[in-house]
Amino acid sequence: MMKTLFLNPPSYEGFDGGAGSRYQAKREVRSFWYPTWLAQVAALIPESKLIDAPARGLSLDDILPRAKDFELAVLYVSAPTFISDVQVAEALKKANPKLMIGLVGAHVATLPEPSLAASTMVDFVARHEFDFTIKEIAEGRPFAEVDGITWRRDGQIVHNRDRDLIHDMDSLPMVAPVYHRDLVVEDYFIGYLKYPYMSMYSGRGCRSKCSFCLWPQTIGGNVYRTRSAAKVIEELALMQKTFPQVQEFFFDDDTFTDDHPRAEEIARGLGKLGITWSCNAKPNVPYETLKVLKENGLRLLLVGYESGVQDILNNIKKGTRLDKIRQFNADCHKLGIAIHGTFIVGLPGETRETIQQTIAFAKEINPHTIQVSLAAPYPGTALYKQATENGWLKAGNLIQDNGLQIAALSYPHLSSEEIFQSLAEFYKAFYFRPKKIAEITFEMLKSWDMTKRRLREGVEFFHFLRTRHDGCEAA
Ligand code: SF4
Repeated sequence: MMKTLFLNPPSYEGFDGGAGSRYQAKREVRSFWYPTWLAQVAALIPESKLIDAPARGLSLDDILPRAKDFELAVLYVSAPTFISDVQVAEALKKANPKLMIGLVGAHVATLPEPSLAASTMVDFVARHEFDFTIKEIAEGRPFAEVDGITWRRDGQIVHNRDRDLIHDMDSLPMVAPVYHRDLVVEDYFIGYLKYPYMSMYSGRGCRSKCSFCLWPQTIGGNVYRTRSAAKVIEELALMQKTFPQVQEFFFDDDTFTDDHPRAEEIARGLGKLGITWSCNAKPNVPYETLKVLKENGLRLLLVGYESGVQDILNNIKKGTRLDKIRQFNADCHKLGIAIHGTFIVGLPGETRETIQQTIAFAKEINPHTIQVSLAAPYPGTALYKQATENGWLKAGNLIQDNGLQIAALSYPHLSSEEIFQSLAEFYKAFYFRPKKIAEITFEMLKSWDMTKRRLREGVEFFHFLRTRHDGCEAA
């Protein structure tokens, strides 16, 4: 096996857009997801090393002296940071000319040829699901025999045949030993999860086809491929034992709750372990399933509502109905399941009126906390194609110089500036109302830990509002 470095490259201060994050930008409050995609492949290569530079606060100067320790470096790159990611690759190659360099991630899966052409110092890109692709390269297999890569043969760019998706998910080893070997649990923080938390995947892919959603359209695919419940429970038991400081475990599967019997089976196993856990969910889980999950340690659901307007949900192929969402929310409130709800402004069909309708809807269903994003047309998504064909793409990049999101879409009836401004309006309308302030105050009174967190987040949030305002004017 080649000595292999897996690198989430240094980037903007606080940039949480790399190897585990769906939202490729700096967030309103400091947060970091675990680099699970890289950890998963690192688990296949025993002597490898995973460095998560943004979460560790490492700069390029911190990384470069280590370049000579490795024979292969695999960098997880993202669309908004691609230029600086390639600069990191070039600096590594200059520091160690013998180092073989490969790029992975949704961006190179979508644009393999331009990604490789961006620098002659990059030796290959691994398209789509890359675990066994990288393993074969690390084993020294000739490029010509490795499925799923794009590389150069005699100066010409060559695309090898696609690699089949992994269907036996139990063939992937646990990530817990890599987390233990290479990561610092306390580096990872998500505002709505207990601290410290730990995230992992129990399956990949999503059967829904939301037009804006990056992962199923680029790496995960439109089938939910899962590990067996027994294996998942076994890994969670190991994590619980190895990381006793962890307060909450999060399943980062696109939609963990899609397979109700399996979710219930896993929940019952976690219940026996006494684990507090949370997961992503579509707002369509029946009451009976929610009840089983809640009775077995489920604390919070991360729910993608996106919009409170049915026509917009239809436009983006969300496959949810507002009446079902209301029922789901009422069920969660009744059972005491907290919800972190995510919304997007600026999706196709958005108008000034629909933004107001979505804000009103968010207040009505009242998730515990929310996150609002600007519609981001990532290359490789149906939304990107639609935006290009209709001339909606305003900005070339998806983030500002400080790592915060840009409103990249603009419509004849709704400008990108209006979309940009509506994000702050959304947050203020949701949080700065008596009911929410009372809820947050009550929560803080119950726990000093929560008080410290909310105060810190409050400071960061106001800084975010001020910074992005400046960013908008400068844009
Ligand atoms: S349900 Fe969620 S994960 Fe699945 S495609 Fe839609 S947004 Fe993506």
